[in-house]
Amino acid sequence: MRTRERTTGLICVLVLAVAGAIPATETEESPYELVEVSPTVVMALHNNGSNLSCVALDEGLVFFDTGLSTRTASRFRREMEARFESPAMALVLTHAHLDHLLGMAAFDDVPVHAAVSGRTRWEHFVAIEWDERTIAAYASVFPSLPEEIPSARLRLPTDWYDDELVLGAGDGQLTVQRTGGHSVDSSSVVVGAERVVIAGDLVQARRRPYFGEPDTDFSAWIDTLQHWEELEVSAVCPGHGPVIELAELGEMRLWFEETAAAATRLKSEGVSMEEMASHPDLPDGYWPDEDTVPRWWIYCIKRLYDAS
Ligand SMILES: [Zn+2]
Repeated sequence: MRTRERTTGLICVLVLAVAGAIPATETEESPYELVEVSPTVVMALHNNGSNLSCVALDEGLVFFDTGLSTRTASRFRREMEARFESPAMALVLTHAHLDHLLGMAAFDDVPVHAAVSGRTRWEHFVAIEWDERTIAAYASVFPSLPEEIPSARLRLPTDWYDDELVLGAGDGQLTVQRTGGHSVDSSSVVVGAERVVIAGDLVQARRRPYFGEPDTDFSAWIDTLQHWEELEVSAVCPGHGPVIELAELGEMRLWFEETAAAATRLKSEGVSMEEMASHPDLPDGYWPDEDTVPRWWIYCIKRLYDAS
């Protein structure tokens, strides 16, 4: 509760501090809440897939992730182009998970960048035939997916990068880094002097994090969170959940460290994966209590066990 109040305060201060700030709104017409994180960074916070972020460079607007909805991504793009009086120049997908990229048709006319280490996943998604059975299977994870499929147009990125992507020039230059962690292609950026992080799913704020992929790398993930702490970043735009500050980032990093350490010790003591799932030695989550544990949590425990 304490951290929630602190972060809400941060956002309000930032919104008020910036001339011409956009008020935070969430109405029937607006599917997201706009958060003006810094003078050049705006995040659309919502629940239909990932958050969307926009960074205004002198050369144009760089967008990060699209969520599940082409319609929502198009609206965010239009609002940002009007707000900054500048055109979209690029889309960066922080990693190849469907809830971050299904709305990519909103950016059909600009270069689309992604880390090449995610290419196999990209090719899998682009090749999917969306028949009823497939839609139903994905809808069990992403309930809004059936209504988004008719306007979705998945295609491969136009530009692949290895570990680094530089966009823009001069002082405003953006350097996107692939560090891995949540997935092998997990990428993020620290926006220059404002020290705002656009984190993709390396940060999933105030919710149970997903880390159930075979390519989840806990040490790369922890190292990246720690690096941002050392940079004393001013704010973090997560893949899911609200903008957070440094202290909350630290709590998150500590949870991953303690969880990975506890899992390694339990496994060495002969604890099975099934026992580990509900073992009292695993630290309490950094997220609010939930009514039920999601079905996918067991995949996260399996990954944790296998990696220990
Ligand atoms: Zn993800």
